[in-house]
Amino acid sequence: MAIARVTLKPGRDKSLRQRHPWIFAGAIDRVDAEPKSGHSVAIHSADGACVAIAAWSPSSQIRARVWSFDAHTEVDAAFLRARIARAVAARASLLDARHTGCRLVHGESDGLPGLVADRYGDVLVVQILACGAEHWREVLLAALQDSTGCSVVYERSDADVRTLEGLPPRCGIVSGSLPDRVALVEDGLAYRVDVVHGQKTGFYLDQRDNRRSVRALARDRDVLNCFCYSGGFSIAALAGGARSTLSIDSSADALSLAEEHVALNALDATRAHWRDADVFSELRRLRDAAQTFDLIVLDPPKFAPTAHHAEKATRAYKDINLLALKLLRSDGLLATFSCSGGISADLFQKVVAGAALDARVDATVVTRFAAAEDHPIALNFPEGEYLKGLLVRKRG
Ligand code: SAH
Repeated sequence: MAIARVTLKPGRDKSLRQRHPWIFAGAIDRVDAEPKSGHSVAIHSADGACVAIAAWSPSSQIRARVWSFDAHTEVDAAFLRARIARAVAARASLLDARHTGCRLVHGESDGLPGLVADRYGDVLVVQILACGAEHWREVLLAALQDSTGCSVVYERSDADVRTLEGLPPRCGIVSGSLPDRVALVEDGLAYRVDVVHGQKTGFYLDQRDNRRSVRALARDRDVLNCFCYSGGFSIAALAGGARSTLSIDSSADALSLAEEHVALNALDATRAHWRDADVFSELRRLRDAAQTFDLIVLDPPKFAPTAHHAEKATRAYKDINLLALKLLRSDGLLATFSCSGGISADLFQKVVAGAALDARVDATVVTRFAAAEDHPIALNFPEGEYLKGLLVRKRG
């Protein structure tokens, strides 16, 4: 079937030739015919060459997302099944008895724009976030289920980005029936995932390796875990022999799940303290009370979804990092993260450096953190590098 032809303005095919998968509305010169939402279009440069086959998003600023840079590709069920099978196969070695969860599909970086799929044991949680994936929803869901053998599929297509695509939210069971609490084992530790009401798909799988790093550093330390959600870093620290953990979050539901995780792993509940509070004011309260810690984790929500929000976000990052550096004992460690797409790793390090300067703290970078390998960053898609972090040691 013939597909609509989209012609770019002169020179605006440059990023496509570098295999970047987004076509912005402003780059488009003309559209022949009227492509329907999510249907495939052929993207042509101003000189007439077909440079990509993409999915059409009529109301988004990202007007089309590339399925393939091969002009001859036919985007059909077989094409999509192969992409899903490739993504699932790439994670096969990550799943075993000690790790029953991972991200199976990570959107553009897996050649599947707008599709996210996380596996928790036998349960798949899927997010459909762009018009192309929405158009192929049935095919994608069936392919995911076929390639994993999972008996339960739950859809959590309620992320804000759907609004930008002009798509209404959609959540609910696709297949099977959902247990009350979905079980996950990460690094041998048991968690329960609230896939219905929890954040994103219910668990921050991207922090898996970084939780392991914190576990390895926690022995005999007093740990402060800010923005703890369901307690991932705290549970890891307790399992690693932390003397105490103080964990802060503003979600009472997340905190009660976190407390369950202590019992579930037979960890010492007397060492684990939980506080339902706003981190910004609680850090000030801890400072005023002259409390100090050996290891602090800062894993805030996305302050800057895009570069437009970067300025306000950098102020927030600086504020919490400055306070945390003050609360650290000498030789103490700060594991500090940003999951903001709008803040580069470089800018994040500058913000933390600025915080250290203002806190009059001398500090070194011990190591850098990124998302776990099941959240790949395609080299042609730097936007995939949303999670970055630093392990900083306070000197003297
Ligand atoms: N570190 C967690 C993920 C953190 S997600 C993990 O490993 O699972 C960010 C968390 O910050 C959410 O749980 C959210 O409820 C919480 N949050 C957002 N703003 C907050 C604030 N101002 N004070 C306290 N918690 C906040």
